[in-house]
Amino acid sequence: MREVGHFIGGKQVSGQSGRTTEFFQPMTGEVIGRVALASKDELRQAVENAKAAQPAWAATNPQRRARVMMKFLELIAQETDSLAEMLAREHGKTIPDAKGDIQRGVEVAEFACGIPHLLKGEFTEGAGPGIDMYSIRQPLGVVAGITPFNFPAMIPLWKLSPAIACGNAFILKPSERDPGVPMRLAELMMEAGLPAGILNVVNGDKEVVDAILDDPDIKAVGFVGSSPIAQYVYSRATTNGKRAQCFGGAKNHMIIMPDADLDQAADALIGAGYGSAGERCMAVSVAVPVGKATADALMDKLIPRVESLKVGPSTDPSADFGPLVTKAHMEKVRSYVDLGVQEGAKLVVDGRNFKMQGYENGFYMGGCLFDEVTPEMRIYKEEIFGPVLSVVRAKNYDEALRLPSDHEYGNGVAIYTRDGDAARDFASKVNVGMVGINVPIPVPLAYYTFGGWKASGFGDLNQHGPDAIRFYTKTKTVTSRWPSGIKEGAEFSIPTMK
Ligand code: NAD
Repeated sequence: MREVGHFIGGKQVSGQSGRTTEFFQPMTGEVIGRVALASKDELRQAVENAKAAQPAWAATNPQRRARVMMKFLELIAQETDSLAEMLAREHGKTIPDAKGDIQRGVEVAEFACGIPHLLKGEFTEGAGPGIDMYSIRQPLGVVAGITPFNFPAMIPLWKLSPAIACGNAFILKPSERDPGVPMRLAELMMEAGLPAGILNVVNGDKEVVDAILDDPDIKAVGFVGSSPIAQYVYSRATTNGKRAQCFGGAKNHMIIMPDADLDQAADALIGAGYGSAGERCMAVSVAVPVGKATADALMDKLIPRVESLKVGPSTDPSADFGPLVTKAHMEKVRSYVDLGVQEGAKLVVDGRNFKMQGYENGFYMGGCLFDEVTPEMRIYKEEIFGPVLSVVRAKNYDEALRLPSDHEYGNGVAIYTRDGDAARDFASKVNVGMVGINVPIPVPLAYYTFGGWKASGFGDLNQHGPDAIRFYTKTKTVTSRWPSGIKEGAEFSIPTMK
């Protein structure tokens, strides 16, 4: 049994609140540790440490701050294998997928190494007679990030890397379901030369989240998780005068046009629908074939592929996907499949009763595939977050465009077609934040920004890329006039105001 406390003032500390919760190894179903749940007082200790350390860090020149990030990247690279193994065991995803989780986070830390350039301000010479105007970007002070279970490396890295590179001190509240990797990242940051107090990790639940949202010294909060909590965090943080960017759930559609390469589309649906057991905010959970012939041909390709998906323990290199994160989540996903059947959708592949031999207590489910799902059904409206793909048949392109555009969520969407005109029209008109054209999971690279629309995102700036630099800094604009100066030569009479 591992005991996980907090990381405050540059070191691991044990929890003092007396409250803890268990975390699991989903592939066996065993409890592997207990993680402390911080109190308001423990958060305050982290904030005090952060507040004391931040001014000196902000005064460290940006090139030196970038060097700490570079060293941090070097240390992560040396331990990618062990980090991925820990991540896979706590989360349930496969080891190659866990490496992807780390890699997509690393890319944002790499972007943050460009901080000397990214922080450059604007300058106008001669904005008026003898007047120059310029803007500078200054860190906010102490900022916080609250992150979900499904990317325990990537999302903490998306938050902490730009925040710290900008000169802030950061408080991370990771998911209590897989706390190991975020704690290790904090240790690696220290080894990389980050001053104590600049990165603190407080583990916990609603109690510590509320304490973060109410703490007057925390100036900004970045959240990623489910939409109801995202909305709650956004409203409480902003009511308390903080900056907030809160990203929520998703229901990502993939449109398959009649001219699409159906083998490519089926491959894309299998990977994006079932990879990581569907526990990705950019997973494709709705396939929309256009026209009956497309739908029938697509189903013929999908059914055998879903039936032969290889579910396995996270450490099996040949597994397509592993177990779900907890028993409670697995039961929730199964109950959505029951609901779909009751609602009248056609369950053409049923993975509900899958059992993993030798791992009978693990949180496994086989892939499920629904045909003839309609927009009125709850399995269409709500995020399931499991290995369940719903097929909604659209009569024509206009109907296919309307479905993701009218859906409550608006994170990602994809279109498969060989027609540039249809693809271009779709990308322009669809009411969703991130679009893939013959790309199923269009997660933008680190130097672009990531953010969903509608119920998938609350706030006005996206994650990573240039928006992250804007979010974690405030702009100061200076108007400067030097009416006379030394160039007029030495003055021998006493200076007076001119
Ligand atoms: P979650 O909302 O349950 O938890 C997210 C964070 O909020 C965790 O740190 C958790 O401890 C905290 N939390 C949970 N309940 C809370 C409460 N009542 N009050 C205050 N804080 C609370 O989400 P999850 O299950 O960890 O993650 C899965 C969700 O995250 C899915 O909906 C998925 O789509 C979403 N997600 C979104 C993105 C994105 O960028 N849009 C990325 C990854 C995951």
